[in-house]
Amino acid sequence: MMRSETASTHPRMGCVTWAKRYTSYMKILRALRPAFAVAILATNAFAWSGRVHMDINRAAALNVPDEMAAWRDYAKLLGLESIRPDLWKGADETEGPRHYLDAERYRPLAITNLPAVRARVRALTGSDAVENGLLPWIIIEVENRLAQAMAGNDWEEAARYAAALGHYVGDAHQPLHLTEHYDGSRDPNGKGIHMRWEEEMPFFYWKETLIRPGPAEYVKDPWSAVLKQLDQAHGYYRELYAADKEAREASDEQTDSPDYYRAIWKRTQKIFVGQVSDAVTDLSSLWYTAWIRAGRPPIPTPPKHVSDQSIWVEKPKQVINESSFPIVVICGAAGLLVVLLILLSRRL
Ligand SMILES: [Zn+2]
Repeated sequence: MMRSETASTHPRMGCVTWAKRYTSYMKILRALRPAFAVAILATNAFAWSGRVHMDINRAAALNVPDEMAAWRDYAKLLGLESIRPDLWKGADETEGPRHYLDAERYRPLAITNLPAVRARVRALTGSDAVENGLLPWIIIEVENRLAQAMAGNDWEEAARYAAALGHYVGDAHQPLHLTEHYDGSRDPNGKGIHMRWEEEMPFFYWKETLIRPGPAEYVKDPWSAVLKQLDQAHGYYRELYAADKEAREASDEQTDSPDYYRAIWKRTQKIFVGQVSDAVTDLSSLWYTAWIRAGRPPIPTPPKHVSDQSIWVEKPKQVINESSFPIVVICGAAGLLVVLLILLSRRL
């Protein structure tokens, strides 16, 4: 099961006439298609457009409760870092399945009955293939790491985990990330629906100001809450297929025409805006929950930047090389001697 995505960002629509701007955008899109194709092959998985990921992280940072208000200063950093997990795919072929869940492949289990311990999946379904997607387990793992980093006052690590968590939570709200029919396989002419809905449609119609999040709240049972989010998102994918079919018919199968995008936005706008808004609510709730679990530590000013290394790559352990070994031994022995002398002198 191969997936592809781009991590590109797009300019906003301005106030010039829509038709004029549309024509130039389509020219740019067409010109960029070869680049998209290269990125698709290189990154091997779909995702929301980069701009939507950025908007989700930024809006979620601003949505935390007042007692965590210092976190709002992280909004810019977390927005910029939101697309990192997509970039990690280039160097790490195991990254792709962290961004989706092919829910149908976990049958007979419903999404809401998936076990929190992944090792139990095989016993319950007869399969635990990584290619079926790891999204809910990854969200919980990163949430736990975030709480630990906050508790340890390591705010660079906390920012890195928080940004990555935002990406995965964002993906968890994209209906086509939760089904094995992620790119048109339910319709003979549906191929391309994934890119059209999550990348090209928001290119023309999405605005950050459409986000309407609910209040961030402490999440008592993150596993159940995440499964509920996934189940809700999965429930929308058939409607996206119906909307795509209707929009293709309305545009005479011209899927790069204004008629197509006008029709599919009209029918699915509520789902799109609702899912992005829910992603913001759920992400800010998970960040708030991690902070409470960490003991509500004081939040310092954000780091200027964070490491671009994948959070799934182990940090290199400090190695004592052979040339430094005698120095380490001599310093250690000298330290011990000093301690012994102090103790002896106190006794005398
Ligand atoms: Zn992704």
